[in-house]
Amino acid sequence: HIGNSMKRADTDGLLINFCQTKFVRKIKNKSLPHNHFFHLHYALLALGDTNYANFCNGGKTIDSRLQQLGAKHFYATGHADDGTGLEVVVDPWIEGLWDALKKTFSSMATSDQQDTDLSDCTQDNFHKNASGQEKNKSDLEVDLHLLKLSETDSQKGKAITSDSIDVETLSTVLAASLKQSVPPLSESALNVPALPASYLEVCLEQVSTEGETVPSDKDSYHEVSISKAVQLTQDDAVKTAISLELDISNLAYQPGDAFDILCPNRASEVKELLLRLDLQTQKNGAVQVNLLKNSTAKIPLHIPQNGSLQFILTWCLEIRSAPKKAFVRALADFTQNSSEKRRLLELCSKDGSADYNSFVRDANVCLLDLLRAFPSCLPPLSLLFEHLPKLQPRAYSAASSSLQHPGKVNFVFNVVEFPARPEHPARTGLCTGWLAGHVSSILRPLGTVPASERLGTSALPKVHVRPRPSSTFHLPADPSVPVVMVGPGTGVAPFIGFLQQREKEREANQEATFGEMWLFFGCRHKDKDFLFREELERFAHNGTLSNLIVCFSRDEPDAAGTVNRPTYVQHNLSLHAKNVASILLKDKGSLYVCGDAKNMAKDVNDTLLEIIGNELQIDKLDAMKTVAGLREEKRYLQDIWS
Ligand code: NAP
Repeated sequence: HIGNSMKRADTDGLLINFCQTKFVRKIKNKSLPHNHFFHLHYALLALGDTNYANFCNGGKTIDSRLQQLGAKHFYATGHADDGTGLEVVVDPWIEGLWDALKKTFSSMATSDQQDTDLSDCTQDNFHKNASGQEKNKSDLEVDLHLLKLSETDSQKGKAITSDSIDVETLSTVLAASLKQSVPPLSESALNVPALPASYLEVCLEQVSTEGETVPSDKDSYHEVSISKAVQLTQDDAVKTAISLELDISNLAYQPGDAFDILCPNRASEVKELLLRLDLQTQKNGAVQVNLLKNSTAKIPLHIPQNGSLQFILTWCLEIRSAPKKAFVRALADFTQNSSEKRRLLELCSKDGSADYNSFVRDANVCLLDLLRAFPSCLPPLSLLFEHLPKLQPRAYSAASSSLQHPGKVNFVFNVVEFPARPEHPARTGLCTGWLAGHVSSILRPLGTVPASERLGTSALPKVHVRPRPSSTFHLPADPSVPVVMVGPGTGVAPFIGFLQQREKEREANQEATFGEMWLFFGCRHKDKDFLFREELERFAHNGTLSNLIVCFSRDEPDAAGTVNRPTYVQHNLSLHAKNVASILLKDKGSLYVCGDAKNMAKDVNDTLLEIIGNELQIDKLDAMKTVAGLREEKRYLQDIWS
């Protein structure tokens, strides 16, 4: 059952994923009779991102399987797209859910009065758990998500229940738990209400912050030295790409795997937040958070129960995340100035999605930006703990092979830059900006002496990492299988690992048959951001790469002035369509794409459809089926990021 996963849904995404997988496995079981869920009425809200293939695949899979097993929708399925803003679909979907729920439960209650659990359920039943003990409110709120189907009830054809629930209680508490009602813009709504009883209570005490260096789940991470940091691009390139070499000693990985890196929030932003929230009461700001005292609410697992506030805001909470609409709505409750409050409520209102998207999401606005823009807003710390997501590690693909660099791993990244906007000053990406600053003492231009040879290893900067193995993005097990790799910009990272590995394998076994390796790379200028140029040219020269095909999107055409010269990787794919099609369709080779999901991966996919359609003389729909088949066979693999 899906219950346990939902119970911890807001604190641990990985856990949801794991339990959801278990749930899907269970309902996919072929031995289930076709009417197994004939009694089940359900509503489903699927979340996805159109930047990636198979939009809302999880939700769609569950939906179609429940239908196959006889379940019925009591409300249309919603498909929310994180690419354009989940709220656009989520808010109206939740809005309409209440009426649909009321209708469904009241019709079920009347038609099934004799034999459903609903008819005799009471508020009292609902407030007790299976062993008859009282539950507290936070348990109840969680339980509401757990419309749990008991096997015996289902065989008797009874309605689903969560223990026993009466309709009134269900809709009232669900509404409260999802905070679906927008306060009306009346004068009374513009007063700051008292803290609801269920809010987390936070006690602050003065403590020392000594010994607090990284988050509590640090056990799964390894502290390693950064032995080299090289700037791969020229100073006047559009983006600054940096490669790092880490001493990982005995941590194993394969090319195609990634590593998670822990990065802290900026000290200056944490400090500003503390000052802004009137929490910088001690000289050094070292206040302890004691979450247990007088608290009835659940504490998210990622918040240590006895950590200093600096520590929690630095290592545990994603303070740079764009506040979700529910957070904005909650912030309005703590805003004194009526016009500021009105504006916040507008932003999170049902009709305010476009406004919210342009003001918050597209502008990369974070909590601190909102607090700057709305000076009379003074939320309690508990609200931050409730709404700020867990600070996630950032993953970087290995750009090396341990065959070629034993005990080391390389990464490459562009320093992300967000220009200044009215809502916030210019800033760099959280992890890429932090890494660039962290390695500044050892950063060198290409071709100069590595820092580890100048400094002792003890002086090298350190970072916490853990391997994040890929289940699919690896070279084919059979080295004779040909491969096509597409990786513009830093998307070339995993292919450097593939090529280093293949180069070593070829050296070690000169008799073996190795399949062709094609690399399509693209950058802006040949002389400014052609990443790994020397190494790629070496691979092409010694035969590791059969074909290195590069394009430059912003270089002037050469003297020959080639008309329609290829500027993007997909243009070169089209120019080499025959070879690409032959590798994929005749030789059963593999296609790997790495890099930007929003534009590049989509365009490459469209080009692939054209190539296959032309080659097989089939229409677009059939080409899509062929491409889906390649994905299914794990011969079309993507490692893409938006
Ligand atoms: P980039 O420098 O922004 O772009 C590289 C080249 O791609 C430029 O010449 C650019 O041309 C071109 N380009 C722009 N739009 C394109 C399109 N629709 N189709 C094909 N080419 C296009 O690339 P980047 O910043 O390195 O980004 C690569 C992506 O890879 C990032 O999203 C990154 O997160 C991801 N990634 C990184 C790693 C890693 O480990 N570092 C691993 C996997 C993926 P113009 O700018 O001239 O238009």
